[in-house]
Amino acid sequence: MDPNYIDPRNLTAHGAVHEVQSHIQQLSENLDLAAPIKLAARGGIFEDQDQCQWLLRNLDAVVALEILPSEIHGSGLFTKQVIPEGAEIFRSTPLVSIVGVGQDATVCDYCYASSPGMFAPDGNFRDLGSGIDIHGNSNFEIKRCVQCGVCAYCSEDCRIMAWAKYHSYECEVLRIHPYAHSWTRMLYRLLSKQKLDHISDQAWAILPQIWGLVGERHPAVSTITETALYAQTLFQPTFTNISVELVLCRIIMNAMPIHTPGEDSRVSMFDLVASLANHSCDPNAFVFHEGRQLRMRSLKPLNPGDEITLSYVNLRAGMIPRGIALRNSNSFVCRCDRCEKESKYLLSLARNEGFDIKQFAKVESEFDEFKKGACNSNDTINKMKASLANLTRTMFPTRPWPLNLYPMGSMQIVFAALYTNSDCHDTAAIHSLKGCLAETFRSGHIWVNHLHTLLTALRALMLEEEIAWVNSPGTQVLRDYFNGVLDELLVQSRKATVYSVARSGGGRVCDEVHDGAGKNASVGGD
Ligand SMILES: [Zn+2]
Ligand SMILES: [Zn+2]
Ligand SMILES: [Zn+2]
Repeated sequence: MDPNYIDPRNLTAHGAVHEVQSHIQQLSENLDLAAPIKLAARGGIFEDQDQCQWLLRNLDAVVALEILPSEIHGSGLFTKQVIPEGAEIFRSTPLVSIVGVGQDATVCDYCYASSPGMFAPDGNFRDLGSGIDIHGNSNFEIKRCVQCGVCAYCSEDCRIMAWAKYHSYECEVLRIHPYAHSWTRMLYRLLSKQKLDHISDQAWAILPQIWGLVGERHPAVSTITETALYAQTLFQPTFTNISVELVLCRIIMNAMPIHTPGEDSRVSMFDLVASLANHSCDPNAFVFHEGRQLRMRSLKPLNPGDEITLSYVNLRAGMIPRGIALRNSNSFVCRCDRCEKESKYLLSLARNEGFDIKQFAKVESEFDEFKKGACNSNDTINKMKASLANLTRTMFPTRPWPLNLYPMGSMQIVFAALYTNSDCHDTAAIHSLKGCLAETFRSGHIWVNHLHTLLTALRALMLEEEIAWVNSPGTQVLRDYFNGVLDELLVQSRKATVYSVARSGGGRVCDEVHDGAGKNASVGGD
């Protein structure tokens, strides 16, 4: 063994994270952003347990929760009891929600129902008559508000509810500013709700304690101060404990774009309790929306005293793109276990192979683009492998791209799918197995897709080689292996199905929401 070889296990986690993060910082600074954002200290809301109790009382929580000081940052959300994997943690009606960017023509801006797809969230075909016809066409139709032409609703009921709760105020403003940024629109909506008395005093009292950024500039909202002053003039809000500028800063930092698997709708939600969950690149919970409600579920088993974490970034990305995203949008350095482990690995590679981490970041993003293009490429697999080898040589002159190093693992799954299409099932099985072994985040839809690719290849291989019915010790091992993967796939796909009960279509979502109105007293008061 090379006496100069550096074993990643011998690097200190703190030192490795620090060194890799300093490269990430330089990379972020090289990006063409308007100005770096500055953060307010994470709100110490845990110090005021009366406020914490009020927040938690207003939740529809299945498990007992508490708000305590966090080792990650400021305040955090903790469980007081055991939560099994895939279980509901809480539901809440956020302080303010708006339809996601680019979704205003397909998603109702009150109940957040979207045109139902062919499949129900449980993966089965939807029942006929539940909003779609035999050709998969939906009778779901949304109509824009005739006055502003901005907000659109799935029904007259939704339009009336929205008008009563906020739209009567925001409509006029949106008529003048139909292209306002979504954060600005969230501010207008929150101020409209306040005008109509749909936000409690307690919520206004808590808002300053929620984590947010400070400063006059942000890459997306060019002038926070000006936007806030303008909104102040338009809405003349009556609260005095917090400035409109601070409200906007809280929205920018805490509004979550929420996607619901199986439904083609994205909603931006600002929920006071969900915003207390800190970030981890290996989170133990996730959020989705069901109509106007935000729901949180566990991804892993949790014990009493565990902090509940969510991911603020794309978990499939490598450590460097994740680090850049966290720095740019949250001004935050992640020191989670996964980042520590990946920092140590990356640093040991850099030292052993003698490469520059910033150069690596550049090649990694080229590789990422290559991987994205590979699925739709007309090139033969061999030509693709040759291009990949060229790309690899710029970083690793004498060896292949390490399997554990992003994005080689997911590239293996792409190759597996390509080989399956070419009926090379043995090669497909090897690639998909490598891809599954390299995947460190073994949960959710992408993991289910990995397992499915592996299972498809194994099944084809077994049929081809008649392994399915030939009896020998070797074929028995493969059959057992196949059954093991199948079991894991079934467990994981059940977990990835976020709904306990399949919903049948857009129409019913509205009914549920309307039936539920008033039953779930929310922080936002609606
Ligand atoms: Zn609706
Ligand atoms: Zn309108
Ligand atoms: Zn991390």
